[in-house]
Amino acid sequence: MSSKNVVILGGGLAGLEAAIYYRKEGFEVELISERPYLFIFPIAIWIPVGTSTFEDVAFPLDTLAARHGFTLTIDRVLSLKAHDHSFILEKGGERKADHLVIALGASKMRHEGIEHTLSICGAPEQSVLLKERIDALVAKGGGKIAFGFGGNPNDPSGVRGGPGFELFFNLHHHLKKLGIRDKFEMTFFAPMPQPGARMGEKALILMESMFKRNRFASRYGKKITRFEESAVVFEDGTTLESDLTMFIPAGDGLGFIKESDLPQNKAGFIEINDFCEIKGVKGWYAIGDSAALEGPQWKAKQGHIAEVMARNAAHNNAITLGLKTGEKKGYKEHLNILCVMDMGNGAGFVYRDDKKALLIPMPIIGHWLKMGWGWYYKRSKMGTIPRIPGM
Ligand SMILES: Cc1cc2nc3c(=O)[nH]c(=O)nc-3n(C[C@H](O)[C@H](O)[C@H](O)COP(=O)(O)OP(=O)(O)OC[C@H]3O[C@@H](n4cnc5c(N)ncnc54)[C@H](O)[C@@H]3O)c2cc1C
Repeated sequence: MSSKNVVILGGGLAGLEAAIYYRKEGFEVELISERPYLFIFPIAIWIPVGTSTFEDVAFPLDTLAARHGFTLTIDRVLSLKAHDHSFILEKGGERKADHLVIALGASKMRHEGIEHTLSICGAPEQSVLLKERIDALVAKGGGKIAFGFGGNPNDPSGVRGGPGFELFFNLHHHLKKLGIRDKFEMTFFAPMPQPGARMGEKALILMESMFKRNRFASRYGKKITRFEESAVVFEDGTTLESDLTMFIPAGDGLGFIKESDLPQNKAGFIEINDFCEIKGVKGWYAIGDSAALEGPQWKAKQGHIAEVMARNAAHNNAITLGLKTGEKKGYKEHLNILCVMDMGNGAGFVYRDDKKALLIPMPIIGHWLKMGWGWYYKRSKMGTIPRIPGM
């Protein structure tokens, strides 16, 4: 393979952005993804409540490949070997790459009885299963709903609670519109005493008042022992009855990465330097949820950080190969928490960095802003509208 070829593993937010920006830097790009579409996770929260369809959220990668001139290979990565710059594909067998970007996302922490739960952050198909279960509960006319998320003591940056809250609020709004909210008990659970604390103090106060106003119950600060068909069981032996349990296990390193010789942290995320170069593996980069983030204690794996890392990897790789001149770019200075937390009929604008932590309520318009982001994402990736810097 010539020095201007790059292989990108993973067709998510990070992998696609890397493919687009490596093309801009003049590389020949092959993107390898196990599925033929990019799943735009931030807007998947609307599938279970019927605001969006699966097709609205699954963005065909072949269309994107044709638009940007990269090669798309649908195959599953089975293993990686850093020492000889090789990897094995399920169908394609062993391959070598001098220049490689790992953008394979993350796996999830294991919990006993997880099969009794569905996750909005799991396999994309689960969003459709969640819709079926919600529709069945609506048809039944009432029930008990438990939503929650778990932790990862080895790397809290992989904890993902925001989408759980978003779907919880959207479901509340959906049931209210149907006039049957009072027939449902809605409880949120998490092992930490203050879930959402990394969004800052103000956010916690606002969430608490929202919980009271909307009659949401909570079970916080208790470790989850296991899930049963109709219950969540906690370490103190108490249970939470549930007809539908939506649970987001914290992110964890992918099994085959843990088994590889790649440098990794305790959770199995790949160790990189500020330039997204994998430590000790020349020419290989890791970006997005697969990478071990370094930085402030509140840091979180997020889509916009994944995209900054992707653009930086392309830029830095081009500089390393002498394809252009300039300074390499780091991801750490971009670390912040930025999201529009949708509630179905509005949203909260969440921002956190070292200096400030904000949650600004945005009734009505916030919901349309997030909807607008989904529209913008697809069109800007197709190049039919220009990219807004920073988005
Ligand atoms: C429901 C939800 C809502 C979110 N909302 C927001 C938000 O509002 N704002 C925000 O900034 N972030 C949000 N995030 C986080 C954001 O979506 C992630 O940080 C981002 O998707 C990470 O991108 P990635 O490409 O690293 O991983 P992923 O998007 O997970 O992509 C990984 C890719 O690798 C592929 N892959 C995995 N294993 C293999 C294999 N063995 N072989 C081949 N291909 C493989 C997958 O199919 C996938 O295409 C949200 C996440 C979820 C789940």
